[in-house]
Amino acid sequence: MIEAKFLITEESGRVARWLRLMGYDAVLAATKPLSELYQRAYREARIVVTRNSQVSASCLFRVIQLRSVNRDEQLRQILQETGVGIDEQRAFSRCDQCNVVLQEAPKAEVQDQVPPYVFSTQERFHSCPACGRIYWAATHWQRARELFDTLKT
Ligand SMILES: [Zn+2]
Repeated sequence: MIEAKFLITEESGRVARWLRLMGYDAVLAATKPLSELYQRAYREARIVVTRNSQVSASCLFRVIQLRSVNRDEQLRQILQETGVGIDEQRAFSRCDQCNVVLQEAPKAEVQDQVPPYVFSTQERFHSCPACGRIYWAATHWQRARELFDTLKT
């Protein structure tokens, strides 16, 4: 399994959310000033992903210049250029809003935090230590899984 951390420039924020759903550490950053962006990429060993043509490659960190505005194409390009994969173990392990690793939440503890229907039909829950959001295998995960399947091919 290849490890990779990403630094996404703000205009491509949607990609960050999807990388998090895949389980990768993806943070957003402004491109002004560029020097700060570069320092952070270097210090935290992150791959810079951007559509901003002013961001230039360096020997100190990697830059992926996204060619497409299409999300699927962007994700495919990132997977191809980095060699990172989509795997079941990693996917859905991270809060897509906070970029924090989710913790398993015992079913008994989430009862008042999820809709009754969800509580009665789901067995496994996770919570985000940062925002407190409760996650379960809901429809948007299903949709994400379908997207992942198309990206794999
Ligand atoms: Zn969160």
